[in-house]
Amino acid sequence: MTTNTPPTLVVLGSLNMDLLLRVPRAPAGGETLLGHSLSQTPGGKGGNQAVACARQGGHVRLLARIGRDAEGQALREALQRDGIDLAALQQDPQQPTGKALVMLEDSGQNRIVVLPGANAELAFDDEALAAPLQGADYLVTQLESPLPLVLQAVAAARRAGCKVLLNPSPMQPLPDDLWPQLDTLVLNEIEAADYAGMPVTTPEEALAAGRALLARGTGRVLITLGARGVVTVEREACVFQPALKVAVVDTTAAGDTFTGALVVALARGLGTPEAAARGVRAAALCVTRLGAQASIPTTEEVEALLP
Ligand code: ATP
Repeated sequence: MTTNTPPTLVVLGSLNMDLLLRVPRAPAGGETLLGHSLSQTPGGKGGNQAVACARQGGHVRLLARIGRDAEGQALREALQRDGIDLAALQQDPQQPTGKALVMLEDSGQNRIVVLPGANAELAFDDEALAAPLQGADYLVTQLESPLPLVLQAVAAARRAGCKVLLNPSPMQPLPDDLWPQLDTLVLNEIEAADYAGMPVTTPEEALAAGRALLARGTGRVLITLGARGVVTVEREACVFQPALKVAVVDTTAAGDTFTGALVVALARGLGTPEAAARGVRAAALCVTRLGAQASIPTTEEVEALLP
C-alpha cells in the first residue's frame, strides 16, 4: 500500500566540503597541467543522501559532525535550505570539517580523495541515537562514518522498529551478523564484487553477486552499474533496469542520489522495481549537472521523467 504521508528518514553519515577541480584530463605522475576552474561545493555521502531524500519529499533527521570553521557553517546553511532537521548535528571543537578533493576530467570521469576531519569523531550514546530513530521509517547509512558507530546505529534502529538501508561505501570488511539486519543493501559493482567475492562486470554477474549477498539474510540487494543501470535482487524476483541515456557532465553523487530517491519511494510503500525506477531517473538528472548536492533533483523533476 502506498502513502502520500512524507516518510521520515534518519541519515547517519559524512559531511564534506568538496573542492572541485575541473581539468582537461588527470595528470600523469610527475606531470603538470593547467586546470579549468576550482570551486567549493557541499558534499559527503551522508549530506548527499540526506539532500536526495529531502528533495524527494522525505522528512530527514541528520546525524553528522562538522568543524568550527567556515566550511562547516556553509554546509549547515546549505542543509537548512533543504529543510533537513539538524538537531543532532555535532560541531567538533578541534577537527576541521571533512573535505574531498574532486578532480573532474572533461570526459566526466572523477577522481576523489577524502580527508575525514570531524567525520572521524562522530559518536552518539544509545540514548542520543534512540531519540531521532523514534517513529522514523528508515535509517540510511554508509561507511564514511566510524564502523562501530554504524553498527551501533543499525542495532538502535532495529530496537526502534525502524528499517535499515546500508550503502557500504567506501568498502570495508563487515561482520557476518550485520547482513540479516539490513532491509536494503545498495552498492556499486566494485563493492559488490568485493563483498560477494566474484567478478561483477555484466548485469548477469551482478545478478549472481546479488543472489550471493541476499543469501546472507539481507532483505533486498540493489547493485548499481554506472551508465548501464541497476540490478534489483529479491527472493521473489530479479530485475535489470537500464540507465537513461543522457549527456554526462559529472557523475559525482549519482549513487547517493539513486539511494535517496529509492529509499523515499520504498518508505512510501512502492515496490522495489518502481522505487528503483525513481532512483534511476533521479541519478540520470544528477549526472547531467555539476557538483554533488548542487546536482540532486527534486521530486517534481523526477516525476516529469516517469513514463
Ligand atoms: P558515485 O560514487 O559517483 O555516487 P556509484 O559508483 O555509487 O556513484 P553508480 O553505479 O556509478 O554509483 O551510479 C548509480 C546510478 O546512477 C546508476 O545505477 C545509474 O542509474 C545512474 N548513472 C550513473 N552514471 C550514469 C550515466 N553515465 N548515465 C546515466 N545514468 C547514470
